[in-house]
Amino acid sequence: MQIISHPSPNFGDRLGGHRPELIVLHYTAMTDLGKTLARLCDPRVQVSAHYLITKGGAIYHLVDEAKRAWHAGQGQWGGRGDVNSRSIGIELENSGFEPFSAPQMQALTLLLIAVQNRHAIAPKGVIGHSDMAPDRKSDPGARFDWCALAMRGLSVWPSLYVKQVPVAKFFGAARAFGYSVDDEAQILSAFRLRFRPQASGPLAFEDAALAVDLANRFAVDAPLKPA
Ligand SMILES: [Zn+2]
Repeated sequence: MQIISHPSPNFGDRLGGHRPELIVLHYTAMTDLGKTLARLCDPRVQVSAHYLITKGGAIYHLVDEAKRAWHAGQGQWGGRGDVNSRSIGIELENSGFEPFSAPQMQALTLLLIAVQNRHAIAPKGVIGHSDMAPDRKSDPGARFDWCALAMRGLSVWPSLYVKQVPVAKFFGAARAFGYSVDDEAQILSAFRLRFRPQASGPLAFEDAALAVDLANRFAVDAPLKPA
């Protein structure tokens, strides 16, 4: 794993004594790598991430993991705010409308293994920006292969065994898993973006079955860090 040091001035101290318990994945929605790096290092813009992974699989290290990078913004996961103080942010060079390349996913895999080991972050602590800010964010988007990450033990994925579950159980289960906004439509769209990107239409029993399975196995009420 080759890591290129490219320090950004856009960071501060983690607040409230928080340590990384989440890893938040993003796409850059930009096509020019030079401009992307310049933006993530521009003090006037006040955005950054700990890492940026290019389409070719190069990993740029922008902010020290001990510091609070500015990638998450307003939002919550598991009812906990100030996600920046609780997380490591990883930007993936991607427009949002294209597949993520094999070298990029390989680099992400190696980086996640290293970061999760360093901070004892459980697979369920690896989330998308859209999970913690469903009202305003849709990255890493419908093209991101969460299932592949889960198969490598680096994130979570619901059981493919779908049984009839009352649709009314969906929102309680999705909240137990971590979704924390009030608006139910936003929860459903964020959930589907990650777990059923092909789905549309009203809430269905498949949504409820997958959410209940995730809540049963990966509820956020349990400590995010392994015991
Ligand atoms: Zn983002």
